[in-house]
Amino acid sequence: MTDATNPLLATDALPDFARVTPEHVAPAIDHLLAEGRAAIARAAAVEAPTWQNVVEPIARANERLGRVFGAVGHLNSVVSSPALRDAYNAALEKVTAYYTELGLNRALYERYRAIAEQPSGLTPLERRLLALELRDFRLSGIDLEGADRERFHAINEALARASARFSDNVLDAVNAWTLDVPVAELAGVPPDVQAAAVERARAAGLAEGMARLTLQAPCYTPVMQYAESRSLRERMYRGYVTRASAEGDPRFDNGPLMEEILRLRQEEARLLGYPDFAALSLVPKMAERPEQVLAFLRDMAARARPYAERDLAELTAFARERLGLDRLEAWDLSWASEKLRLSRYALSEEALRQYFPEDAVLAGLWRVIESLFGVRIVPAEPPAGRWHPDVRYFRVESARVDDTGEPSLVGEFYLDLYARADKQGGAWADTARTRMLARGVDSERLATPIAFLTCNFPAPVGGRPALFSHDDVITLFHEFGHGLHLLLTEVDLYGLSGFGHVEWDAVELPSQFMENYCWEWEVLRHMTRHVDTGEPLPRELFDRMIAAKNFQVGLTTLRQLEFALFDMELHRATEPLDCAAILRLLERVRDEVAVVRPPAWGRMPWSFSHIFAGGYAAGYYSYKWAEVLSADAYARFEEEGVLSPKAGADFRREVLARGGSRDAIENFVAFRGRPPSIDALLRHNGMTGLQ
Ligand SMILES: [Zn+2]
Repeated sequence: MTDATNPLLATDALPDFARVTPEHVAPAIDHLLAEGRAAIARAAAVEAPTWQNVVEPIARANERLGRVFGAVGHLNSVVSSPALRDAYNAALEKVTAYYTELGLNRALYERYRAIAEQPSGLTPLERRLLALELRDFRLSGIDLEGADRERFHAINEALARASARFSDNVLDAVNAWTLDVPVAELAGVPPDVQAAAVERARAAGLAEGMARLTLQAPCYTPVMQYAESRSLRERMYRGYVTRASAEGDPRFDNGPLMEEILRLRQEEARLLGYPDFAALSLVPKMAERPEQVLAFLRDMAARARPYAERDLAELTAFARERLGLDRLEAWDLSWASEKLRLSRYALSEEALRQYFPEDAVLAGLWRVIESLFGVRIVPAEPPAGRWHPDVRYFRVESARVDDTGEPSLVGEFYLDLYARADKQGGAWADTARTRMLARGVDSERLATPIAFLTCNFPAPVGGRPALFSHDDVITLFHEFGHGLHLLLTEVDLYGLSGFGHVEWDAVELPSQFMENYCWEWEVLRHMTRHVDTGEPLPRELFDRMIAAKNFQVGLTTLRQLEFALFDMELHRATEPLDCAAILRLLERVRDEVAVVRPPAWGRMPWSFSHIFAGGYAAGYYSYKWAEVLSADAYARFEEEGVLSPKAGADFRREVLARGGSRDAIENFVAFRGRPPSIDALLRHNGMTGLQ
């Protein structure tokens, strides 16, 4: 196979997805890695470093590598097969090694520094990108010498291993746990969940009339919500909150791993010159200091507390009067809450779904985007083959025509909406191609951005259009927020356009911002059409949706804040913490914020994968942080009209267009005219009026 016949290499745009096979992956990635290494070697050896002879060639090579590897990763997520997964994992290992090597290249680092120190010849954006790249070099340990350097790498490898084992333990513990009960004990549980449990029992060779329960979400969640048997809920709850701990199943005990991970992170922070891991974690984030984050979380907790107390009082009274429960145990909460929710709002997901056929939802979404951002969304043919016949392709065009009389192309996106057996679950927006201006010898060429938008919604069945739940619609708007961040970028520099160097705790601003439109009457009445009657959503149903929106928001807010405070305090520690100390810290945080006190025998930290195995260490606060930004940004639309083209143009120019070219706080202030305030989020959550 030659490069020319390999579809992954045959184009400067995106590959012909229909032709890519697992055999194409290794040769393409090897070729691009060799190209990248050659570019790095040349750049690291130049005598008189400049932007053009060091930064540009590496950006070009990395852009191409990122685009092709991104396409492979995308295929692995949407049309997976064992052969493709193997090819992808092998490539992932090589690409990771390549970037580690790049981050540790001293000669290259020196050249970046020399360019940054040149007094002139750089644009402000180029200066910013260089400063960020130099910071990334330092965070990968480039300044360390001798034994420290060795130790730093040992720490990184040990951390990667420990984190992987942590999440494996959680997964294995969940998979190993089962509870076998007679079907009669499942009263209240939805029939499809019962049927699945009976099927599992049969497959395991259990006697007729038995059901096997598991801790996986599709079984655990409905059992906790609907099972009438209190003792069954208690057994399930115990299994769940002790998973991956010695109390649950000693084979999968994450205790020693937690201690090790925290110790290694403390050491890593010290080596890089930070007082604790929390301070290190915040370096590339929007929040500046751990104290600032803690103050934010505590302020929010104080404001949410009266609402959480009200939620709990209402639930307790309802449980006593209507359910005959004098005392609410931890395993009663979901069950009693679901009963209360149904008695109050009587909202049926199924009935609601009939109002959201796919074409009405997409037309409604396009209407919002087109009204706000001065663009048109036009169905188009992709430049080459797609990976599945259900995949659609769209052009985003400027609503204004350019000098040639044609609408100018802003970007393009692939839309892959339906769940399939070979597709990874969830929904996401990803970069297919980043906007970038490539400077040749005597020409410039602009690559416009292309996005992948992927969901797992139910496909059309029996000649009827696909019907989405309101949650699906929210998910779609959320992902389009990310998509717009990518597509409406006006930055030409690779590394600052799209998501490039956008602070991690600000990345959810555009996505959560877009979710607000799913709760606007002005939007919903144009976006809904009953699949049989053709009627738009009745106002009365909409009012009930709004009433139910903030059900128990006080309790859920405090729970999120409890996790966030625990995470931050855990990573501010400077002395080793053993399991007992970790539990004491959790209890202290609960003393401070919890309204509902889980039993002391629970082992929540042992399965807190977000912070021990995911990217959220000293970063769990980001969820609430970005929510404050998105709610406050949206409040300007509430003031000026939710589809105000003026506010939309400002949001596009000051936030969406900027990528990482400016600090997120500056984007926000430029758009809002002042720093963020939590008032809008409190108001959206119905948290106003109580003291
Ligand atoms: Zn998101």
